[in-house]
This record gives sequence, structure tokens and C-alpha cells, in this order.
Amino acid sequence: MNLKRQRIAVCGGGGFIGGHLVKSFLMQGINVVRAIDFKPCEQWQQRSPDVENLVLDLREKAACEKAVRGVDVVFNLASDMGGMGFIENNKALCMLSVLINTHLLLASRDAGVEQFFYSSSACVYNREKQNDPQGTALKEEDAYPALPEDGYGWEKLFSERMCRHFEQDFGMECRVARYHNVYGPWGTYDGGREKAPAAICRKVIEAKLSGSGEMEIWGDGTQTRSFMYIDDCVKGTQMIAESDLHEPINLGSSELVSIDELADIVEEIAGTRLKRRYKRDAPTGVNGRNSDNTKISEYFGWEPSVRLRDGMAKTYEWIEDQMLSGRSESYVAAAVAYSS
Ligand code: NAD
Repeated sequence: MNLKRQRIAVCGGGGFIGGHLVKSFLMQGINVVRAIDFKPCEQWQQRSPDVENLVLDLREKAACEKAVRGVDVVFNLASDMGGMGFIENNKALCMLSVLINTHLLLASRDAGVEQFFYSSSACVYNREKQNDPQGTALKEEDAYPALPEDGYGWEKLFSERMCRHFEQDFGMECRVARYHNVYGPWGTYDGGREKAPAAICRKVIEAKLSGSGEMEIWGDGTQTRSFMYIDDCVKGTQMIAESDLHEPINLGSSELVSIDELADIVEEIAGTRLKRRYKRDAPTGVNGRNSDNTKISEYFGWEPSVRLRDGMAKTYEWIEDQMLSGRSESYVAAAVAYSS
């Protein structure tokens, strides 16, 4: 499928990845008809006046019907989620996102939508395969037998399967990407939903501003992950949407680091060294997780490739700018910036 010939709706368009996706599509001349999000418009991370921006609660079926009206392709990036601190303490809320995907699928089927894209997660993988801090590289088949992250991961796995059966039973094409930790400018960096890369940037900046000389790290710093820069996420999402792939596929970096190594990178970018206070009882998730990129490399001859050090430098710069200048003004500036 060539997205340039389609009319598109981006659900969760006021969020981090959704906002970047809308922006990238518009810059390529792709016809984004509509962006939809739950938050009031002024809180959207990015927003374009060239698109119909709708504030709707997509847990409601009637809202989903409005969201998908007159479009050919639906991207579902809407979900109630955040970093480990949020998903470990809000399992019911995470699972309620099942209403969003279920109602969006039903509304899309009834409206004759041609293709539906679902943003799944590495949290679908079997927890027992992620005990090793050396970071097992997870292949797509490692999602079964099912033992995903409690709450959030179960919802993602269930919604993946819902997509599969909507395709098999109702003939609506579905594409599913399993994102592994995405970071970059416009990501949440405070308020409780932030993820490790943005949280560590914020803590380092706070320590520099206050002169405290220390920062808190969740866990003992040895847990490992890979982190994908937003540009790779947006590019991969489009490639998967335009492909003939009918099965879920990993979309993540395979550059594995420990949380301590991630903190080292941020300190080096910031030109500082801080004392670390390890909060060992904080939510940390599995010990180790990496993306096995065999399938995506074979299929596309491509995999996420932005080096963590490079992506983190841009992310740090953006968060520092936000913290120093006041976020709301910058949000509005960005919304205008890509409107033409
Ligand atoms: P985000 O929180 O920035 O964006 C999600 C958006 O969905 C938010 O703007 C939120 O307001 C909106 N939303 C929530 N409930 C809604 C509702 N009832 N109706 C309408 N909108 C609603 O998150 P993100 O990082 O942009 O993630 C996008 C998608 O990718 C999500 O499905 C997420 O689970 C998935 N994902 C993200 C990551 C990551 O590292 N960021 C990793 C794996 C999977």
C-alpha cells in the first residue's frame, strides 16, 4: 500500500509518537485527514492546523465512528500508558485501553476502512525469557506461550490477536508493530508517565540547576534495555504500514545498554558527573530485554540505526530547552512550525 494515495486518521495524534507521525506524513504530502486524542488540544505534544484535530474519548464506540469516518487507513497509537512507574501502578487503566482498540476495529470494519495499524509493544513478550540482565534478544515467536507484562502487556497481546482475527474473519488488513522503548523530543519527561531516557535527562538537568550533585536511579542500575530514537520509529511504522506483513514485527533498536550506561551517556552529554542513589524498590520491569531484528532486517533490508548517544543528545537538548524556557510556549510554536 502506498500511503500517498490514502486518506489517513491518526488516533493518539496528540501524543508523542502520534504527533511525530502526523508531522512526518504531512511533510511527505500524505493526506492526514484527522488526528484524534483524548487530551484538550492545548496539551497535545504537537498539532497541525492543516488537519482536523478532534478531542474524543476513543473508549466510546460512537467516538470511534467519528474518528474513522471517510478514511482509508487508521493508525491506532492511542492508549493509556507511560513508563514502568505508570504501568506497574495502573494495571486496570492500562487494560481499559482494550476498549479503544476494540471499538476502533469495529468502527473501522463498519466504515469500510482498508487498513488498520496497531502499535503494540515489547511488553507482550514472555516474562520468563527476560530474566537475564544480559538482555535476551526477543524474536517475534517469543510472545508465546503467553506470559506478558501484567496489565499493559496482556492488553497489547489481546489487541494484537483481535487485529489478527479481524483480518482473518472480516478481511480488514491489519499491521502490527511491536515497539521497543521509543524516545526523543516531544516525549513526556515529567508528571509520572515518563520513561527512563527522558526521566534521566530531567534528573541530570535538575541536579545541574539545583547543584545537588546527585540523582536517583530506579533499581540497581544493571537492568538492560534497548532504546529507539523517534525518527527510526516513524520510518519503521510507515514501512510496516506500506508492507504486506500480516504478522506482528519488532520495531526497536538492538543497541543494548544498562540503565547505568544510559545514565553515563546523559552525564557525558551534560558534561557532569553525579552521585547515584539507587532506589531498589522502585518499579523496574524485567531484568533484560533487547529486540531481535532478524525479521525486520530480512524483510526491509533496514533496521533502526540511530545511535543512542546521538539520539540522546537531541533529546537532552530538547528537554533542557523545555525546562529552561517554559513548555507551553514551545508547544504552540511547534504546532505552528510545521503548519505550512
Ligand atoms: P503517548 O502517551 O504520548 O500517546 C498516547 C496518546 O493516546 C496520548 O496522547 C493520550 O492522550 C491518548 N489517549 C489515551 N487514552 C485515550 C482515549 N481514551 N481516547 C483518545 N486518546 C487517548 O504514548 P506514545 O509513546 O506516543 O505511544 C503511542 C503508542 O505506542 C501507544 O499505543 C503505546 O502503547 C505504544 N508504545 C509506545 C512505546 C514507547 O516507548 N513510547 C513503546 C511500546 C509501545
